[in-house]
Amino acid sequence: MPLPVRTEFLAAPAIEAIPASTPFIGPEQLMRENGYDSLLRLGANESTFGPSPKALAAMAAELPRLSWYGDPESYDLREALAVRHGLSIDSICVGSGIDELMGLAVRAYLPAGAATLALRGTYPTFSYHVVGYGGIPQTVDYSPEGTADIDALIARARELKPKIVYLANPDNPSGSMVTSEQVARLFEGVPDSLLLLDEAYADFLDEAAFLPQLLDVRLIRLRTFSKAYGLAGARIGYAISTARNIQTFGKIRLQYGVNRNAQIGAIAALHDSQFVQSVVGEVARGRQDYYDLAKSLGLAYLGSHTNFVCIDFQTPQRATRMVAELLARGVFVRKPGAPPLDRFVRVSVGTPAERERFGVCLRSILEDVPA
Ligand SMILES: *Cc1c(COP(=O)(O)O)cnc(C)c1O
Repeated sequence: MPLPVRTEFLAAPAIEAIPASTPFIGPEQLMRENGYDSLLRLGANESTFGPSPKALAAMAAELPRLSWYGDPESYDLREALAVRHGLSIDSICVGSGIDELMGLAVRAYLPAGAATLALRGTYPTFSYHVVGYGGIPQTVDYSPEGTADIDALIARARELKPKIVYLANPDNPSGSMVTSEQVARLFEGVPDSLLLLDEAYADFLDEAAFLPQLLDVRLIRLRTFSKAYGLAGARIGYAISTARNIQTFGKIRLQYGVNRNAQIGAIAALHDSQFVQSVVGEVARGRQDYYDLAKSLGLAYLGSHTNFVCIDFQTPQRATRMVAELLARGVFVRKPGAPPLDRFVRVSVGTPAERERFGVCLRSILEDVPA
Protein backbone atom coordinates (compact mmCIF):
# COMPACT_ATOMS: atom_id res chain seq x y z
CA MET A 1 0.00 0.00 0.00
CA PRO A 2 1.42 3.41 -0.90
CA LEU A 3 2.12 5.76 1.96
CA PRO A 4 -0.44 8.55 2.27
CA VAL A 5 1.04 11.81 0.95
CA ARG A 6 0.51 15.00 2.85
CA THR A 7 0.57 18.18 0.86
CA GLU A 8 0.85 20.75 3.58
CA PHE A 9 3.16 21.15 6.55
CA LEU A 10 3.44 24.72 7.70
CA ALA A 11 6.67 26.60 8.16
CA ALA A 12 7.04 28.96 11.11
CA PRO A 13 4.38 31.70 10.95
CA ALA A 14 6.88 34.44 10.03
CA ILE A 15 8.03 32.37 7.07
CA GLU A 16 4.54 31.35 5.95
CA ALA A 17 3.60 35.04 5.87
CA ILE A 18 6.26 35.80 3.23
CA PRO A 19 5.02 35.61 -0.37
CA ALA A 20 6.86 32.98 -2.41
CA SER A 21 8.89 35.01 -4.88
CA THR A 22 12.51 35.34 -5.86
CA PRO A 23 13.70 38.54 -4.23
CA PHE A 24 17.06 38.74 -6.01
CA ILE A 25 17.00 37.82 -9.70
CA GLY A 26 20.59 37.21 -10.73
CA PRO A 27 22.20 37.70 -14.13
CA GLU A 28 22.34 33.93 -14.62
CA GLN A 29 18.55 33.76 -14.38
CA LEU A 30 18.24 36.64 -16.84
CA MET A 31 20.51 34.74 -19.23
CA ARG A 32 18.41 31.56 -18.93
CA GLU A 33 15.19 33.51 -19.43
CA ASN A 34 16.52 35.30 -22.52
CA GLY A 35 18.52 32.45 -24.00
CA TYR A 36 21.78 34.42 -23.77
CA ASP A 37 25.14 32.79 -23.32
CA SER A 38 26.76 36.00 -22.19
CA LEU A 39 25.69 39.25 -20.62
CA LEU A 40 27.53 42.48 -19.87
CA ARG A 41 27.32 42.33 -16.07
CA LEU A 42 26.92 45.91 -14.91
CA GLY A 43 23.99 45.28 -12.60
CA ALA A 44 25.32 43.83 -9.36
CA ASN A 45 28.27 46.10 -8.53
CA GLU A 46 30.70 43.25 -8.93
CA SER A 47 34.30 44.24 -9.56
CA THR A 48 35.04 43.85 -13.23
CA PHE A 49 38.73 44.21 -12.34
CA GLY A 50 38.73 40.85 -10.59
CA PRO A 51 40.63 39.79 -7.48
CA SER A 52 44.30 40.59 -6.90
CA PRO A 53 46.55 38.18 -8.85
CA LYS A 54 48.23 37.49 -5.50
CA ALA A 55 44.90 36.44 -4.01
CA LEU A 56 44.24 34.21 -7.01
CA ALA A 57 47.67 32.61 -6.71
CA ALA A 58 47.23 32.00 -2.98
CA MET A 59 43.80 30.46 -3.56
CA ALA A 60 45.06 28.29 -6.41
CA ALA A 61 47.91 27.03 -4.24
CA GLU A 62 45.43 26.19 -1.48
CA LEU A 63 43.01 24.25 -3.68
CA PRO A 64 44.49 20.78 -2.98
CA ARG A 65 43.55 21.28 0.68
CA LEU A 66 39.86 21.81 -0.07
CA SER A 67 39.21 18.52 1.66
CA TRP A 68 39.93 20.35 4.91
CA TYR A 69 37.48 22.64 6.63
CA GLY A 70 38.51 26.23 7.04
CA ASP A 71 39.68 27.45 10.45
CA PRO A 72 36.38 28.04 12.30
CA GLU A 73 37.98 31.02 14.05
CA SER A 74 39.29 32.54 10.79
CA TYR A 75 42.20 33.37 13.09
CA ASP A 76 44.84 34.43 10.55
CA LEU A 77 42.44 36.65 8.65
CA ARG A 78 41.11 38.23 11.82
CA GLU A 79 44.67 38.87 12.93
CA ALA A 80 45.43 40.62 9.62
CA LEU A 81 42.20 42.63 9.89
CA ALA A 82 42.95 43.55 13.50
CA VAL A 83 46.30 45.02 12.40
CA ARG A 84 44.61 46.84 9.50
CA HIS A 85 42.03 48.48 11.76
CA GLY A 86 44.13 48.87 14.90
CA LEU A 87 41.78 46.63 16.84
CA SER A 88 42.09 43.48 18.84
CA ILE A 89 41.11 40.24 17.16
CA ASP A 90 38.20 39.72 19.56
CA SER A 91 36.45 42.73 17.98
CA ILE A 92 36.18 40.99 14.61
CA CYS A 93 33.88 38.27 13.33
CA VAL A 94 34.41 36.83 9.85
CA GLY A 95 31.40 35.57 7.92
CA SER A 96 30.46 34.57 4.40
CA GLY A 97 29.84 38.14 3.32
CA ILE A 98 27.98 41.08 4.82
CA ASP A 99 24.72 39.45 3.80
CA GLU A 100 25.32 36.58 6.21
CA LEU A 101 26.60 38.79 9.02
CA MET A 102 23.58 41.04 8.68
CA GLY A 103 21.37 37.98 9.17
CA LEU A 104 23.31 37.08 12.31
CA ALA A 105 22.83 40.57 13.70
CA VAL A 106 19.09 40.43 13.08
CA ARG A 107 18.80 36.94 14.53
CA ALA A 108 20.86 37.86 17.58
CA TYR A 109 19.31 41.21 18.46
CA LEU A 110 15.79 41.37 17.04
CA PRO A 111 12.99 39.75 19.04
CA ALA A 112 10.10 38.51 16.84
CA GLY A 113 7.55 41.26 16.35
CA ALA A 114 10.05 44.08 17.04
CA ALA A 115 10.59 46.96 14.65
CA THR A 116 13.66 47.98 12.71
CA LEU A 117 14.31 51.20 10.83
CA ALA A 118 16.07 51.89 7.52
CA LEU A 119 15.71 54.02 4.42
CA ARG A 120 12.93 52.98 2.05
CA GLY A 121 14.55 51.35 -0.96
CA THR A 122 18.05 50.94 0.47
CA TYR A 123 20.08 47.72 0.11
CA PRO A 124 17.34 45.09 0.53
CA THR A 125 19.06 42.22 2.32
CA PHE A 126 18.59 43.84 5.72
CA SER A 127 14.79 43.90 5.53
CA TYR A 128 14.89 40.47 3.89
CA HIS A 129 16.41 39.11 7.11
CA VAL A 130 14.11 41.19 9.32
CA VAL A 131 11.03 39.73 7.65
CA GLY A 132 12.50 36.23 7.76
CA TYR A 133 13.04 36.48 11.51
CA GLY A 134 9.55 37.83 12.16
CA GLY A 135 10.48 41.47 12.70
CA ILE A 136 8.75 44.53 11.29
CA PRO A 137 10.84 46.61 8.90
CA GLN A 138 9.87 50.27 9.10
CA THR A 139 11.29 52.92 6.83
CA VAL A 140 11.67 56.62 6.17
CA ASP A 141 12.24 58.13 2.74
CA TYR A 142 15.51 59.34 1.32
CA SER A 143 15.82 63.10 0.98
CA PRO A 144 14.57 64.32 -2.42
CA GLU A 145 18.25 64.45 -3.50
CA GLY A 146 18.63 60.71 -2.86
CA THR A 147 20.76 60.99 0.27
CA ALA A 148 20.13 59.48 3.70
CA ASP A 149 17.78 61.73 5.65
CA ILE A 150 19.41 61.55 9.06
CA ASP A 151 16.89 63.90 10.71
CA ALA A 152 13.99 61.78 9.46
CA LEU A 153 15.67 58.60 10.74
CA ILE A 154 16.21 60.16 14.18
CA ALA A 155 12.67 61.55 14.36
CA ARG A 156 11.10 58.24 13.37
CA ALA A 157 13.34 56.34 15.79
CA ARG A 158 12.08 58.57 18.62
CA GLU A 159 8.52 57.34 17.98
CA LEU A 160 9.33 53.78 17.06
CA LYS A 161 12.22 52.87 19.39
CA PRO A 162 13.41 50.32 16.80
CA LYS A 163 15.68 47.59 18.05
CA ILE A 164 17.97 48.00 15.03
CA VAL A 165 18.64 50.99 12.76
CA TYR A 166 20.32 50.08 9.48
CA LEU A 167 22.39 52.51 7.42
CA ALA A 168 24.47 51.67 4.37
CA ASN A 169 27.15 54.34 4.03
CA PRO A 170 28.06 54.85 1.24
CA ASP A 171 24.58 53.82 0.27
CA ASN A 172 23.44 51.33 -2.31
CA PRO A 173 21.52 51.97 -4.61
CA SER A 174 22.06 55.76 -4.51
CA GLY A 175 25.86 55.81 -4.23
CA SER A 176 25.49 58.79 -1.92
CA MET A 177 27.23 59.16 1.40
CA VAL A 178 26.75 61.07 4.63
CA THR A 179 29.65 62.51 6.62
CA SER A 180 31.10 60.82 9.67
CA GLU A 181 29.60 63.69 11.73
CA GLN A 182 26.15 62.79 10.44
CA VAL A 183 26.71 59.12 11.26
CA ALA A 184 27.79 60.14 14.76
CA ARG A 185 24.66 62.29 15.08
CA LEU A 186 22.50 59.36 14.02
CA PHE A 187 24.24 57.08 16.50
CA GLU A 188 23.60 59.53 19.34
CA GLY A 189 20.09 60.22 18.13
CA VAL A 190 18.94 56.60 18.39
CA PRO A 191 19.98 55.74 21.96
CA ASP A 192 17.61 52.77 22.23
CA SER A 193 18.80 51.07 19.05
CA LEU A 194 21.65 49.05 17.70
CA LEU A 195 23.16 50.86 14.70
CA LEU A 196 24.01 48.37 11.97
CA LEU A 197 26.41 50.29 9.78
CA ASP A 198 26.97 48.67 6.40
CA GLU A 199 30.25 49.95 4.96
CA ALA A 200 30.47 47.62 1.95
CA TYR A 201 32.06 50.37 -0.17
CA ALA A 202 34.51 51.63 2.45
CA ASP A 203 37.53 50.47 0.48
CA PHE A 204 36.80 52.98 -2.29
CA LEU A 205 37.37 55.83 0.16
CA ASP A 206 39.92 57.07 2.60
CA GLU A 207 39.35 55.66 6.10
CA ALA A 208 39.30 59.28 7.33
CA ALA A 209 35.86 59.68 5.69
CA PHE A 210 34.39 57.22 8.19
CA LEU A 211 33.33 57.31 11.78
CA PRO A 212 36.50 56.78 13.83
CA GLN A 213 36.77 53.34 15.33
CA LEU A 214 34.27 53.21 18.17
CA LEU A 215 33.73 50.05 20.16
CA ASP A 216 30.28 50.38 21.63
CA VAL A 217 27.72 47.62 22.15
CA ARG A 218 25.22 49.67 20.15
CA LEU A 219 27.38 49.72 17.04
CA ILE A 220 28.14 46.94 14.55
CA ARG A 221 30.07 47.82 11.38
CA LEU A 222 30.10 45.54 8.37
CA ARG A 223 32.81 45.34 5.71
CA THR A 224 33.38 43.01 2.78
CA PHE A 225 35.88 41.62 0.29
CA SER A 226 33.15 41.58 -2.37
CA LYS A 227 33.56 45.05 -3.81
CA ALA A 228 36.98 46.73 -4.14
CA TYR A 229 38.77 43.43 -3.45
CA GLY A 230 36.78 41.68 -6.18
CA LEU A 231 36.02 38.51 -4.19
CA ALA A 232 32.20 38.53 -4.31
CA GLY A 233 31.98 34.92 -5.44
CA ALA A 234 34.28 33.77 -2.62
CA ARG A 235 31.72 35.10 -0.09
CA ILE A 236 33.75 36.69 2.67
CA GLY A 237 33.26 39.73 4.88
CA TYR A 238 33.56 40.77 8.50
CA ALA A 239 31.83 42.54 11.35
CA ILE A 240 33.52 44.92 13.78
CA SER A 241 32.07 45.46 17.24
CA THR A 242 32.76 44.95 20.92
CA ALA A 243 34.13 41.64 22.15
CA ARG A 244 30.76 41.13 23.85
CA ASN A 245 28.85 41.43 20.57
CA ILE A 246 31.37 39.30 18.70
CA GLN A 247 30.94 36.64 21.39
CA THR A 248 27.19 36.82 20.84
CA PHE A 249 27.73 36.21 17.12
CA GLY A 250 29.95 33.27 18.10
CA LYS A 251 27.00 31.59 19.81
CA ILE A 252 24.95 31.31 16.66
CA ARG A 253 27.21 31.66 13.64
CA LEU A 254 27.87 28.69 11.40
CA GLN A 255 31.26 27.60 12.75
CA TYR A 256 32.35 26.13 9.42
CA GLY A 257 30.39 28.51 7.21
CA VAL A 258 33.36 30.45 5.86
CA ASN A 259 34.99 28.93 2.83
CA ARG A 260 38.59 27.86 3.49
CA ASN A 261 39.76 29.19 0.14
CA ALA A 262 38.05 32.52 0.77
CA GLN A 263 39.98 32.94 4.05
CA ILE A 264 43.26 32.38 2.22
CA GLY A 265 42.30 34.69 -0.65
CA ALA A 266 41.15 37.46 1.66
CA ILE A 267 44.46 37.52 3.55
CA ALA A 268 46.44 37.74 0.32
CA ALA A 269 44.06 40.39 -1.04
CA LEU A 270 44.44 42.47 2.11
CA HIS A 271 48.21 42.46 1.72
CA ASP A 272 48.09 43.54 -1.94
CA SER A 273 47.27 47.17 -1.27
CA GLN A 274 48.81 48.21 -4.59
CA PHE A 275 46.22 46.16 -6.47
CA VAL A 276 43.29 47.54 -4.50
CA GLN A 277 44.58 51.08 -5.04
CA SER A 278 44.71 50.47 -8.78
CA VAL A 279 41.08 49.27 -8.70
CA VAL A 280 40.04 52.32 -6.69
CA GLY A 281 41.73 54.59 -9.26
CA GLU A 282 40.13 52.82 -12.22
CA VAL A 283 36.71 52.94 -10.55
CA ALA A 284 37.08 56.70 -10.03
CA ARG A 285 37.88 57.08 -13.74
CA GLY A 286 34.89 54.91 -14.58
CA ARG A 287 32.52 57.02 -12.50
CA GLN A 288 33.79 60.10 -14.29
CA ASP A 289 33.21 58.40 -17.66
CA TYR A 290 29.60 57.71 -16.67
CA TYR A 291 29.13 61.31 -15.47
CA ASP A 292 30.52 62.54 -18.80
CA LEU A 293 28.30 60.13 -20.73
CA ALA A 294 25.19 61.28 -18.84
CA LYS A 295 26.08 64.94 -19.40
CA SER A 296 26.66 64.36 -23.12
CA LEU A 297 23.19 62.80 -23.34
CA GLY A 298 21.54 65.59 -21.38
CA LEU A 299 20.84 63.30 -18.42
CA ALA A 300 21.32 64.03 -14.74
CA TYR A 301 23.11 61.61 -12.40
CA LEU A 302 23.90 61.19 -8.72
CA GLY A 303 27.46 61.76 -7.61
CA SER A 304 28.71 58.42 -6.30
CA HIS A 305 31.22 57.23 -3.71
CA THR A 306 31.01 53.63 -4.88
CA ASN A 307 31.69 51.46 -7.94
CA PHE A 308 28.37 52.36 -9.59
CA VAL A 309 26.50 55.44 -10.78
CA CYS A 310 22.77 56.21 -10.87
CA ILE A 311 21.63 57.91 -14.07
CA ASP A 312 18.38 59.90 -14.00
CA PHE A 313 15.71 59.00 -16.58
CA GLN A 314 13.11 61.33 -15.06
CA THR A 315 10.28 58.83 -14.60
CA PRO A 316 10.12 55.29 -13.23
CA GLN A 317 8.44 54.20 -16.48
CA ARG A 318 11.30 55.48 -18.59
CA ALA A 319 13.91 53.95 -16.27
CA THR A 320 12.12 50.59 -16.43
CA ARG A 321 12.05 50.86 -20.21
CA MET A 322 15.80 51.59 -20.26
CA VAL A 323 16.57 48.51 -18.17
CA ALA A 324 14.52 46.38 -20.59
CA GLU A 325 16.10 47.95 -23.69
CA LEU A 326 19.59 47.46 -22.27
CA LEU A 327 18.80 43.83 -21.46
CA ALA A 328 17.56 43.36 -25.02
CA ARG A 329 21.07 44.46 -26.09
CA GLY A 330 22.74 42.04 -23.66
CA VAL A 331 23.47 44.58 -20.92
CA PHE A 332 22.48 43.81 -17.32
CA VAL A 333 21.81 46.84 -15.10
CA ARG A 334 19.37 47.42 -12.25
CA LYS A 335 16.88 50.04 -11.26
CA PRO A 336 16.04 51.07 -7.69
CA GLY A 337 12.47 50.21 -6.72
CA ALA A 338 11.35 53.03 -4.42
CA PRO A 339 10.99 56.79 -4.87
CA PRO A 340 12.82 59.12 -5.15
CA LEU A 341 15.39 56.75 -6.69
CA ASP A 342 13.05 54.72 -8.90
CA ARG A 343 13.54 57.01 -11.86
CA PHE A 344 17.25 56.14 -11.97
CA VAL A 345 19.16 53.30 -13.59
CA ARG A 346 22.10 51.99 -11.58
CA VAL A 347 25.11 50.95 -13.61
CA SER A 348 28.30 49.40 -12.21
CA VAL A 349 31.70 50.63 -13.35
CA GLY A 350 33.05 48.31 -16.03
CA THR A 351 36.41 48.15 -17.78
CA PRO A 352 37.03 50.97 -20.30
CA ALA A 353 35.78 48.65 -23.10
CA GLU A 354 32.65 47.72 -21.11
CA ARG A 355 31.94 51.38 -20.35
CA GLU A 356 32.32 52.18 -24.01
CA ARG A 357 29.87 49.43 -24.95
CA PHE A 358 27.39 50.64 -22.35
CA GLY A 359 27.68 54.17 -23.75
CA VAL A 360 27.11 53.00 -27.32
CA CYS A 361 24.02 50.97 -26.28
CA LEU A 362 22.57 53.80 -24.22
CA ARG A 363 23.09 56.32 -27.01
CA SER A 364 21.38 54.08 -29.56
CA ILE A 365 18.44 53.40 -27.23
CA LEU A 366 17.93 57.10 -26.63
CA GLU A 367 17.89 57.70 -30.36
CA ASP A 368 15.20 55.02 -30.80
CA VAL A 369 13.13 55.63 -27.68
CA PRO A 370 11.60 59.08 -27.44
CA ALA A 371 11.55 60.77 -24.03
C1 LIG B 1 27.17 44.49 -2.23
C2 LIG B 1 26.62 44.91 -0.91
C3 LIG B 1 26.59 44.02 0.16
C4 LIG B 1 26.92 42.55 -0.01
O1 LIG B 1 28.09 42.23 0.59
P1 LIG B 1 28.55 40.70 0.66
O2 LIG B 1 29.74 40.79 1.55
O3 LIG B 1 28.87 40.28 -0.73
O4 LIG B 1 27.44 39.90 1.25
C5 LIG B 1 26.16 44.48 1.38
N1 LIG B 1 25.76 45.74 1.54
C6 LIG B 1 25.76 46.64 0.53
C7 LIG B 1 25.33 48.03 0.77
C8 LIG B 1 26.18 46.23 -0.74
O5 LIG B 1 26.11 47.09 -1.76
